[in-house]
Amino acid sequence: MSQGCAAALDAVHLANPIAARLRAYDPGHDLASLRRRFGLQLAELGANENPYGPGPAACEAMRRAMEGASRYPDPRAAALREAVAAHLHVDGSQLVFGNGSHELLMLLAQCFASPRQSVLFSRYGFAVFALAAAAAGAPSVCVEARPASDAKAPFGHDLVAIRQAITPDVRLVYLANPNNPTGTWFDHAELASFLESVPEDVLVVVDEAYAEYFEHAGGVSAIGLRSRFANLIVTRTFSKAHALAGLRVGYLLADESVCQVLEGLRESFNVGVIAQAAACASFDDREWLTESLLKNHFERERLASELARLGYPSLPSRTNFLLLDCGADAGPVEARLFEAGVITRPMGGYGLAGHLRVSVGNHEENSRLLEVLA
Ligand SMILES: *Cc1c(COP(=O)(O)O)cnc(C)c1O
Repeated sequence: MSQGCAAALDAVHLANPIAARLRAYDPGHDLASLRRRFGLQLAELGANENPYGPGPAACEAMRRAMEGASRYPDPRAAALREAVAAHLHVDGSQLVFGNGSHELLMLLAQCFASPRQSVLFSRYGFAVFALAAAAAGAPSVCVEARPASDAKAPFGHDLVAIRQAITPDVRLVYLANPNNPTGTWFDHAELASFLESVPEDVLVVVDEAYAEYFEHAGGVSAIGLRSRFANLIVTRTFSKAHALAGLRVGYLLADESVCQVLEGLRESFNVGVIAQAAACASFDDREWLTESLLKNHFERERLASELARLGYPSLPSRTNFLLLDCGADAGPVEARLFEAGVITRPMGGYGLAGHLRVSVGNHEENSRLLEVLA
């Protein structure tokens, strides 16, 4: 045999047909090179991260946990489980922890959807919902959102239309409350009557990635409805208000039988040693959390009103981001910000080419954004 180059391999034809159709995540920008180019002048307002964290208790826990990094993490995340269960008044057996809530959203579809078990979500719903369906080879049913002219929640989830779209082959419904990228939310009574009308064998996932911001603004979590509806699943994350996006920790609350199915497929060591320790400490550090929620609230209101004054109205928000209306095409606005080192998120992929999603940064970052647009 000669030792020349191997013949080109076409792995797409070797892959299973579901995997062969999937595409890699497109990060949009090369943040590593942008950080080198702009240094401390870079304002990263594209991923809805918390600019104030992580908190001091989480940092101290991470330092202490470093020495344990030679050991595998606790596959049951017992300490974190206990902290979350106690705070939310649920049984630990109703929790599953994930490498970010992204992993849990994917895992749900892997376990409860298939080419014959469909997945349903709203137009403008969080992008991972469609990815989860595709990865499971499941048909996606995308339900039209409320119209842009809707007074209550323009572009928001239409729970009545979603209920009507539930046919016998639908097994999984994904809702986000508040939703990313629109920031829209539905209220508790609306969700309760929706759940009353949904067949028990349809699992309803409420993604509450922004729960802390939402509750701080007077919103009510779906968790209180868990005792009434066994088919309700609530997902949450440490990536947003807890400022631990880089560590990848999320969790879900569900019926114990749902958790058992998910545990069968979950990678045993999916949440690392340092991540578990930091999440645990951050969860208990309510003082730091409240302070960061207050700062976000103040900055969000300032940013929204200043942007409106400059001609960029945004949708109402109970999160740490705003969806800006830039007219027909947000491209030139995004480009102008980008050249000034302010990273935002274009919305063309969601079919909202005239909109731009902007995270609420710290005071300096928001001021920079406003200066560029002025
Ligand atoms: C950011 C976000 C998530 C998840 O993030 P993880 O970092 O994977 O926990 C989930 N849902 C929504 C709606 C989000 O905006």
